[in-house]
Amino acid sequence: MRIILLGPPGAGKGTQAVRLAEKLAVPHISTGDILRRNVAKKTKLGLQAQPYIATGKLVPDDLVIEMTAKRLKENDARKGFILDGFPRTLAQANALEDLTEIDVVVNLFLDPEDLVKRSTGRQVCPNCEAVYHVLTNPPRKTGVCDKCGSDLVQREDDKEEVVRTRITTYEQLTEPLCMYYKEKALLRDVYASGHIEEIFERILEALRR
Ligand code: AMP
Repeated sequence: MRIILLGPPGAGKGTQAVRLAEKLAVPHISTGDILRRNVAKKTKLGLQAQPYIATGKLVPDDLVIEMTAKRLKENDARKGFILDGFPRTLAQANALEDLTEIDVVVNLFLDPEDLVKRSTGRQVCPNCEAVYHVLTNPPRKTGVCDKCGSDLVQREDDKEEVVRTRITTYEQLTEPLCMYYKEKALLRDVYASGHIEEIFERILEALRR
């Protein structure tokens, strides 16, 4: 299945995308993860993207479209994929149409204040990219990754001020995509409050609909 996960920062896209990818045995393609890897390695793309990411703005369309097109051409994406964090603008959605078919768009939604709480409590593993939350999904040992034992960190762009900018950016540029995919009869809305397992079940149910 070729699935897009839409939703504001803090809705739990990444966490659910990892589970869904495992369950459906397809790759999890997160443009945020790919960009952060490029930033860490100081590639040309990483250096170009870094100031946008750090301030909660969107990286320019042409850079992200080219990067995603390349990733979708890799062999493993032939059997399907979970696209997490792309498209984020109408220009990206239009470009995606030329790249591949999409089967379903899952739209995770939540109250705006919950989004801030969710994002600011997130902790990530800088080594294996596992994602935790101090309240809803804590690691077994405080501040340490369950999977690889590295010290967890807060993402630079999960500071409250940047989170608020990311939410505004989402509302202005990405939310219109809900209507875009609704008109194509691809959109499935899923309420993203509650336990991780519960939300995952709602997503599976939405895919069966
Ligand atoms: P994410 O991990 O999906 O929250 O993405 C983190 C940051 O990477 C975003 O705030 C943007 O700065 C950048 N980013 C990720 N995906 C995209 C995209 N499709 N278009 C533009 N910028 C993106």
